[in-house]
Amino acid sequence: MPDNQHIKYLLSEDEIPRAWYNIMADMPNPPLPVLHPGTKQPVTPADLAPLFPQALIMQEVSTERYIEIPEPIRQVYRQWRPSPLYRARRLEKALDTPARIYYKYEGVSPVGSHKANTSVAQVFYNQQEGVKKISTETGAGQWGSALAMAGTLFGVDIEVFMVKISYQQKPYRRSMIQAYGATVHASPTDLTDAGRSILAKDPENQGSLGIAISEAVEVAAKSGGTIKYSLGSVLNHVLMHQTVIGEEALLQMAQADDYPDVVIGCAGGGSNLAGLVFPFIGENFRKGTKTRFLAIEPMSCPSLTKGTYAYDFGDTIGMTPLLKMHTLGHDFIPPGIHAGGLRYHGMSPLVSQLHAEGVIEARAYHQNAIFEAATIFARNEGIIPAPETAHAIKAALDEALEAKAAGQERVILFNLSGHGHFDMQAYDAYFSGKLQDYEYPAAAIEEAQKKLPQVV
Ligand SMILES: *Cc1c(COP(=O)(O)O)cnc(C)c1O
Repeated sequence: MPDNQHIKYLLSEDEIPRAWYNIMADMPNPPLPVLHPGTKQPVTPADLAPLFPQALIMQEVSTERYIEIPEPIRQVYRQWRPSPLYRARRLEKALDTPARIYYKYEGVSPVGSHKANTSVAQVFYNQQEGVKKISTETGAGQWGSALAMAGTLFGVDIEVFMVKISYQQKPYRRSMIQAYGATVHASPTDLTDAGRSILAKDPENQGSLGIAISEAVEVAAKSGGTIKYSLGSVLNHVLMHQTVIGEEALLQMAQADDYPDVVIGCAGGGSNLAGLVFPFIGENFRKGTKTRFLAIEPMSCPSLTKGTYAYDFGDTIGMTPLLKMHTLGHDFIPPGIHAGGLRYHGMSPLVSQLHAEGVIEARAYHQNAIFEAATIFARNEGIIPAPETAHAIKAALDEALEAKAAGQERVILFNLSGHGHFDMQAYDAYFSGKLQDYEYPAAAIEEAQKKLPQVV
């Protein structure tokens, strides 16, 4: 029986996981290879060497179940990990539901989201291999600020290509990146061929994550080995670094003497979702538990619910290797919703495969609905969630209300991936009734799907 008092479940610093969980060890079917964009043959470690340090390339393809977390990384994790697991008792009461709702709170990191779990790891491995500078992209700025923080901790320079519309509309994330001493540009820029080619066609282009990736990859690829590249989501090693979230949550659910029936995360590139759910999926695979898993995305950028499961580029220009994933098409530019972290045309290959195999379900919601859920949550739990996170909250509320209608004791766990303190402008738009629900952009997606690369 779950205990009937606690609001939060805490672990000591010594209980920070000693290893990340690698789901590739337990998946019934091996993941499909990443393909070279030119030859369409599986990429080799040598192909990836200009972009990533060796340690991360090895992690990307490893099938070891647990990969040890180096002590210097655990040492930095200590600053905010283990993160708390909360039981949402006031929210349960407000909903008058027999469901028990738990959430893992990743907003306690210095940058306010889960992204620091992998930024610290990635910068560490780069520094170990003598890398002095890393380029990256960022949408709303969460990833850029997380990498910038890790860069300053380990003494590695960080150059960030930030999607132009966010650079202009979310100036405080940009300032945060600068506060950590990193360089930040509004993408598309005229610093790269990729940026110049976009601007030549459309000087007013507002940017997208796909374009910013093209720019950051180009900077690393043309640096002659002096600059590496880093990605904040999507890739296997990134998702693996995030599993500290789920490994801790397993211990904390045991502390609560409870176990989830359903585990939920919002999904942009898939990393916070995977971080929480993969360790629980591992339990399903190895122990036969029957937990359900939910990935939640915006209606205007619905890669899992409406995309094609096919090989596609990770960026807009077509420079990255081809990933087998749910994709809306690499040159699809999603409408300017406020959940900037969910505006990505693709989805992590691991999450995509687990969705295709029926292990992870997916749902999509409109932005007004998710802000309504965020507000209900804030008014009962006190925490103001990021708009991305609000997608997971909406699904948790729906699950709790469904349990109520069915008179069921359902145990719900979701990832509160980050706080929304830098997103109050979006809340303002919601409160003043100015938030637009973009319809599913069927025509634009259909057009983008015609440009999927042909792979036999
Ligand atoms: C970046 C971000 C996301 C989306 O990215 P994933 O890789 O899908 O996790 C979700 N929530 C927050 C708070 C973010 O910063």
